[in-house]
Amino acid sequence: MEPLDRDDDFPEIREGVRALCARFPGSYWRELDRERRYPEDFVRALTEAGYLACLIPEDFGGSGLPIAAAAAILEEIHGSGGNGAACHAQMYIMGTILRHGSEAQKRRWLPDIAAGRLRLQAFGVTEPTSGTDTLGLATTAVRSGGSYVINGQKVWTSRAEYSDLMLLLARTTPKDQVKKKGEGLSVLVVDLREALGTGLTIRPIRAMLNHATTEVFFDDLEVPAENLVGTEGRGFRYILDGMNAERVLIAGECIGDARWFVEKARTYASERIVFGRPIGQNQGVQFPIARAYAQSEAAALMVRRAAALFDGGRPCGKEANMAKLLAAEASWAAAEACLQTHGGYGFAEEYDVERKFRETRLYQVAPVSTNLILAYLAEHVLGLPRSY
Ligand SMILES: Cc1cc2nc3c(=O)[nH]c(=O)nc-3n(C[C@H](O)[C@H](O)[C@H](O)COP(=O)(O)OP(=O)(O)OC[C@H]3O[C@@H](n4cnc5c(N)ncnc54)[C@H](O)[C@@H]3O)c2cc1C
Repeated sequence: MEPLDRDDDFPEIREGVRALCARFPGSYWRELDRERRYPEDFVRALTEAGYLACLIPEDFGGSGLPIAAAAAILEEIHGSGGNGAACHAQMYIMGTILRHGSEAQKRRWLPDIAAGRLRLQAFGVTEPTSGTDTLGLATTAVRSGGSYVINGQKVWTSRAEYSDLMLLLARTTPKDQVKKKGEGLSVLVVDLREALGTGLTIRPIRAMLNHATTEVFFDDLEVPAENLVGTEGRGFRYILDGMNAERVLIAGECIGDARWFVEKARTYASERIVFGRPIGQNQGVQFPIARAYAQSEAAALMVRRAAALFDGGRPCGKEANMAKLLAAEASWAAAEACLQTHGGYGFAEEYDVERKFRETRLYQVAPVSTNLILAYLAEHVLGLPRSY
């Protein structure tokens, strides 16, 4: 079967990532998935190859590549049947320090993150009682001498067990004492190595997919005041600043998934013979695959557009949100078409379809749910009344 056209941007990077991923085939991911284990070897290989430091400027030891290159890396990982969720946050969480941290903080953390000596890939925003309503979060950070004392709880804090540092969003001024509702939250870097057992507890959550996600509890945890990023009270703005990058990168993963499903489906549809002919000869089998292909290629264009605007330093909230929305929908359509094409075998572990199906479903909900993107577009782009 003729291979499908591939994107032609960053050919060497794409080739390199594909070669690396070939060392981690479906059997590798299946085994980890079964036991809900963390892909240590894969993450180490990506780190050593420098891919996770691609967005860190060269001054701090990274390769200073554009976001389009980072999206291509994640796309290739997912397009190879793997999953970048174990480490994608190492690429972009540091952006908050890069954009809003002091010079001393950048020098202290970024070179070690770039070298992979330090993992900053845990992001503590979501809480059980506030969920999507980030401004309603209840975890507090109270200044006491040279420290902040943290109390509260986070949920779905992914990779906390495999990270040295966590970027934490906590309330430093009570909600009823702030002038504007977006104020009063602050970003702190928590050193998990010091915090574990001295006010911080991590509890894994067994989930539908292998995602190393956890609940985190803070009980009078002391964090040095020098770990505050930027100005106290402005943390929500800093987190929002990082969201376009996250949306573009996650959209890249969705495109990789979509392409993997389409490739897998068209191959199977050509080879599986039922009623004396390939099942792919039936339009009822062809059309969902063709539709998913069209959806994923269209979404890929939006991802490219969003990345180009981001890399050009131009506003891209609209495009980054649409890229994430369309790419997540495309990957889900492709997952559905692929599973259906495989009939009963789609449910068998050894085809990897059911694993990828579970994995790609996440993008309808996290890191931002589809409804919240639609609400953003409705309000901020289409000028409709605010719904919440
Ligand atoms: C595997 C996994 C990993 C995650 N990793 C992280 C992480 O590392 N760090 C982190 O901070 N968070 C993480 N999250 C959390 C994730 O970002 C949230 O689950 C997500 O933002 C939704 O929040 P919620 O689950 O509380 O849903 P809720 O806010 O309770 O929403 C439930 C449903 O209601 C809908 N809804 C809510 N409000 C509205 C509204 N106003 N209009 C329309 N629809 C609405 C939502 O779209 C959603 O479908 C992760 C989640 C999962 C499942």
